[in-house]
Amino acid sequence: MSSKLKPQQVVADLLFQRTGKLTRELVRDPGGFGLGQVPVRLKPDSTTTAVCGFCSTGCGLEVHLKDGQAVNLSPARDYSVNKGAACPKGWEALTPLFAKDRAVKPLLRNERGVLEEVGWQTALEAFCSRFKAIQQRHGAASVAFLSTGQIPTEEMALLGSLAKFGMGMLHGDGNTRQCMATSVVAYKQAFGFDAPPYCYEDFEESDVLVFVGANPCIAHPIMWERVCKNPHTPQIIVIDPRKTETAMAATQHLPLRPKSDLRLLYCIAGLLIESGYVDREFVAQHVTGFDEFAAHVRGFTLADVAMDSGVSSESIELVADTIGRGKRVSFWWTMGVNQSHEGVRVAQAIINLALITGNIGRPGTGANSITGQCNAMGSRLFSNTTNLLGGHDFANAEHRAKVASVLDIDVETIPEQGSLAYDQILEGVLAGKIKGLWIIATNTAHSWINQSDAQEILKRLDFLVVQDMYTTTETARLAHLVLPAAGWGEKEGTFINSERRIGLLKKVSRAPGEALADFYIFKLIADAWGVGDLLRVFESPEHTFQLMKRLSRGQPCDITGIRDYAMLDDRRGIQWPLPEGQDVEAQAERRLFEDGRFFHADGRARLLFEAPRPLPENTDERYPLILLSGRGSSSQWHTQTRTAKSPVLKKLYSEEAYVEVNPEDARRHGLSPSDHAIVESRRGKLRARVHVTHVVQPGQVFVPMHYAEANQLTFAAFDPYSRQPSYKYCAVQIRKADPFAE
Ligand code: SF4
Repeated sequence: MSSKLKPQQVVADLLFQRTGKLTRELVRDPGGFGLGQVPVRLKPDSTTTAVCGFCSTGCGLEVHLKDGQAVNLSPARDYSVNKGAACPKGWEALTPLFAKDRAVKPLLRNERGVLEEVGWQTALEAFCSRFKAIQQRHGAASVAFLSTGQIPTEEMALLGSLAKFGMGMLHGDGNTRQCMATSVVAYKQAFGFDAPPYCYEDFEESDVLVFVGANPCIAHPIMWERVCKNPHTPQIIVIDPRKTETAMAATQHLPLRPKSDLRLLYCIAGLLIESGYVDREFVAQHVTGFDEFAAHVRGFTLADVAMDSGVSSESIELVADTIGRGKRVSFWWTMGVNQSHEGVRVAQAIINLALITGNIGRPGTGANSITGQCNAMGSRLFSNTTNLLGGHDFANAEHRAKVASVLDIDVETIPEQGSLAYDQILEGVLAGKIKGLWIIATNTAHSWINQSDAQEILKRLDFLVVQDMYTTTETARLAHLVLPAAGWGEKEGTFINSERRIGLLKKVSRAPGEALADFYIFKLIADAWGVGDLLRVFESPEHTFQLMKRLSRGQPCDITGIRDYAMLDDRRGIQWPLPEGQDVEAQAERRLFEDGRFFHADGRARLLFEAPRPLPENTDERYPLILLSGRGSSSQWHTQTRTAKSPVLKKLYSEEAYVEVNPEDARRHGLSPSDHAIVESRRGKLRARVHVTHVVQPGQVFVPMHYAEANQLTFAAFDPYSRQPSYKYCAVQIRKADPFAE
């Protein structure tokens, strides 16, 4: 360890975590480690605010403190996002902090292959010596990291800088690859920057809302509440193979055949053009590629697409007509689009509809990707993986120079290319090129597509470090070293929500045992690695926020006008951009492109399109059904690492995996409600309780993604532009489980 990292500094950190003291006055920081730089002065018995740490809605919560510790919470009434509402996960946000399986000390696998408790000093030495040995033997790129959309932006920025500028890693990616990569690429190519253009007010301002592959009733219930508050009696169109809760509430539902979405959207565009619903003036002034696009979509005739998609011609025409006649039409999509073998082009087909009809930059409009995780948007700008910090480009020498200058580092330490994508990193492990992996706050062994392969790949690593709140995740169990991390509520920083609102996260509870905020784990590692000096500018989360401001200067996401954390707190979150000199009213909800200028050099948006691609996997006689996956309920979050810790939430969903089967298929396969069935793909199988329902169409079954077994089945196909996995389509068979054999 370097001379800058003294044992007492580690002790100071641990003391800080254990006591949960919240102000510099209460924390004497003996080592000058910066731990006292907690800007938010909280009274021990008071109520404060913090943004929720589950989904990208970014609700404001009021956290009630007793003796400086959170004892309860309620939704914030004065937060523009949620206006006094929260979903079950938000209400239960404190409970997972007190789970019995929290990681409380570092764990190191011993010679007998058992994880045993060690001190931080030993853990840091093992981290550095093992990874350095791998790099010395196999090159710097033989160690990589996989991060998350669940930690604050400041932590992402420090991690990305430590790994790439300090430790010489070339490759790191995040679990945001699994949810948002498609939207990122779609926006960048179409708008010139990854810029979701909307604000939540648009849910209330539209007269037509089109949801594609999105089920906000379940996945984003507070956003759906905003839809319910829309006073314009809007038309709500849902394009989704399942009759989801949102589809049931819609005025029009197109239950299309899975993955016929690109053809359907091109057909709708063709109908809009044919019927004269194009905003010619907007297109002429602000959009490039209209004639080519019009020629392309002519090939997607109504009759053909109706047959391909299984949706009637009349229904498609009605949707096109409703969009065409709408004055304020907004288009929304989530994972049904993003998690596809051709998701980027599908997302752009949606963007194209908004562009050709001039539905962007005005209240109630927009081509709007709804994000998944609480800080996926922070990851998109500041994780330093695919993009250089601040939405910059690794390949751009000017961008590298700017980042080097802000961080006061040698520009030569910045790689000239972005990282490999998540799947390529795992491929690198499989090929023996990547031997060491550091996984932070994500559960690869559960969530990655084609799970058996993913687990086998992780087992090949010479050294796997998992940094997490819990010791029991499927991934932590495979680790050689587990670093115990503080969670939401036990540290500070900022999240960026789906509408680009930066919200403040506060430390309102003490982390258990020796668990540390990820920020301080990264600081300890930087010192132990010998690069603490190089990264000295990352003094504390709030100092890092000041760096982020400088990194954003001149970018579309410029936030130089946000003074500090206190301003974020006072204004109840602030959307990017907010350049220096511009002020906004508290609670203002702002959208992009009001002036019709996009971020490409010529200021114009691009219409992007191509021929649909063949399906990566086909059904056949043996595997005749299409497996769909997605969220099961508002009470479950992803791999359930946290939500399964709440007895309240567990009462709200089935603990056992279940499969939705159409009555026709249930009859054909001899299945009755509540039977156990085996669902099997060419890769694996799972056992699930049968739920007979018309929610799924004949020939399709649905399994919620939260159950570990779901990814035993999925097929590892990827969008060629975004490298996002296609979780939503693979071929399976179903049979009644033999109670004695299975
Ligand atoms: S909707 Fe999302 S941000 Fe809001 S309370 Fe629920 S999980 Fe938290």
